[in-house]
Amino acid sequence: MKRPWKCVSVPLRDGMIHWPGDPACQIQRVNKMEEGAVCNLTHLSLSAHTGTHMDAPRHFIADGMTMEKMPLEPVIGRCRVIELADVVDQITADDLRVIKFAVGQRVLFKTRNSTRSWAMSEFDKDFISIRADAAQYLVEQKVATVGVDYLSIGGYEKDGVETHQIMLGAGIWVIEGLNLAEVKAGFYDMICLPLKIDGADGAPCRVVLR
Ligand SMILES: [Zn+2]
Repeated sequence: MKRPWKCVSVPLRDGMIHWPGDPACQIQRVNKMEEGAVCNLTHLSLSAHTGTHMDAPRHFIADGMTMEKMPLEPVIGRCRVIELADVVDQITADDLRVIKFAVGQRVLFKTRNSTRSWAMSEFDKDFISIRADAAQYLVEQKVATVGVDYLSIGGYEKDGVETHQIMLGAGIWVIEGLNLAEVKAGFYDMICLPLKIDGADGAPCRVVLR
């Protein structure tokens, strides 16, 4: 018997932590049964890059592919959770050279972000990110999908733009904002389904592993 599915998305919440400068996540119930409405109804206002979400190439490539055109293969199937517990700044190409990647692999990186950054009451500017040389290395390894356990593959006020340009420019599908605290390193079945938002440069997604 297969083990039960485990959710590795973070919950969307009113006022939740978001990338500095991005619009806030607002979740408000506009119809309330306790006030006489026939049903409850919630209004959402959020950036496409809120919480656990995917980046489409369009995020950093002017004519890149948009969310609704994403093929499903990069987000459904076997994936590998790689734990990099010792990284305290950025994931470098040297950190990755000791790992054997496979062409077309779906890879999720678990770092201290999963337990540390998500537990903070403010945006964590020192979250572990992927340095540009590591991004280039992942492109050379021809992985299909890369997931990270905080809000960006690239660092805050570091080489974040470059990291995005390298990976999205090479057609790697990017999942950001995972929480892998409850998941050990190893191989899993993954289902990651981002919302089908026409023309969007990203979309919130629910990600489950088994
Ligand atoms: Zn994003």
